[in-house]
Amino acid sequence: MTALARRALLRGDLRGRRTPLRPPWALAEADFAERCDGCRACVRACPEGILAAGWSGVPEVDFGRGACTFCGACAAACTRGALRRGRGLPWAARARITETCLALRGIACGACVDACERGALRLRPVRGGVAVPRLDPGSCDGCGACVAPCPAGAVEVRERTEEAGA
Ligand code: SF4
Ligand code: SF4
Ligand code: SF4
Repeated sequence: MTALARRALLRGDLRGRRTPLRPPWALAEADFAERCDGCRACVRACPEGILAAGWSGVPEVDFGRGACTFCGACAAACTRGALRRGRGLPWAARARITETCLALRGIACGACVDACERGALRLRPVRGGVAVPRLDPGSCDGCGACVAPCPAGAVEVRERTEEAGA
């Protein structure tokens, strides 16, 4: 990776976007940037097709294509040590419902709840209104299955540490 790409990577992209979600078991962003050479072996290895090279050629997760099964194929394919399975949990990523959620705007929905096999999303009744989705962060593993089904693009999956500072 070029020095320019690495600097941009470390501060998000040039348009000020947040640092994208890296593949599971990725090292912390600075270490990941040092290790990853943009070979795309992980992208090719992912059977779900949810990894893509970002603008700088560095892989990121696109949950618009599907969910992560945590199969480990991406980490196994990485010969640079940028993805290290066995370091514990694959990531600290968790889902978050954003303000564009239809239910929060009074339109009945729940597609994200139906998509979550872990039961991390539940519809909470609202007196006089439509039920709204609520996340149990302790049950969510950041698989992203709830992202693509959302008709409003209202579900984000981010690293929890980043969310805390958002
Ligand atoms: S763990 Fe498997 S499904 Fe998830 S990003 Fe890696 S290769 Fe794809
Ligand atoms: S699928 Fe999207 S719009 Fe529907 S309840 Fe979930 S977050 Fe809201
Ligand atoms: S990321 Fe996965 S576990 Fe978390 S709420 Fe969405 S579907 Fe459920």
